[in-house]
Amino acid sequence: MTERPRVILFLVDGMRPDGLLAAETPTLDRLRAAGAHTLTARTVMPSMTLPCHASLMLGVPPERHGITTNVWTPQVRPVPGLFDVLAAAGLTTAFFYNWEELRDLARPGALHAAFMVKDVTGDGTPDSEVARLAAGWLRDHPVDFAFVYLGATDIAGHAWGWMSEPYLAAISHADRCIGDVLAALPDDLTVIVTSDHGGHDQTHGTDCPEDMTTPVILSGPGIPAGVSIERPVQITDLAPTIARLLGVPAPAEWIGSPLTF
Ligand SMILES: [Zn+2]
Repeated sequence: MTERPRVILFLVDGMRPDGLLAAETPTLDRLRAAGAHTLTARTVMPSMTLPCHASLMLGVPPERHGITTNVWTPQVRPVPGLFDVLAAAGLTTAFFYNWEELRDLARPGALHAAFMVKDVTGDGTPDSEVARLAAGWLRDHPVDFAFVYLGATDIAGHAWGWMSEPYLAAISHADRCIGDVLAALPDDLTVIVTSDHGGHDQTHGTDCPEDMTTPVILSGPGIPAGVSIERPVQITDLAPTIARLLGVPAPAEWIGSPLTF
């Protein structure tokens, strides 16, 4: 008899796999060693934050969901998103983020809780506040699925350049934020860490490998340690993977295939 796992998804906006490797990331290193990972997952075009998040959460490419800029547009033929599917199955979900354009990723009524904070510190590290809120709230409210979005790495990339020292420092800071959240929670969670896209120079959005390649790390009960995922992984595989982990069927519209171990 296996108990349904709790899943927590962390997304570090704009984190390149080679940025992850170059930055000091003890938490992500620990999760990689304890679980499975790939450093060659692919996102969708345009490699921009909202289109990529829409593909991650709606399980379909931009040609299908129709969100091709960082402005949300209502879908002509709506696709059920991960939050919506989980809520319809009676599961509880929460969303913690610091970029308000993401607020439409869940339809009204799908979320048990949502926390959006802007950069209240003003020092370029708004991820700390998201982590503090997630750690505090999730400790007392054990939802089935939580999505924790950390936006400061992308901001550093635009300001100083991808792979610059401040960019790598932002990844290290995101790593500490993830560690802080996990330290507050039971250690039998299934943890997934990824990014929405990479970047080059001071931008992203193209189909160059630096923009399109992302890391995916999964760690938790039933996921073998130290596994390098050999199959190609697309950002659209994540929603079906999370639904499967939680025992919820994926909608027919979703194009991805779940990662299995
Ligand atoms: Zn982004």
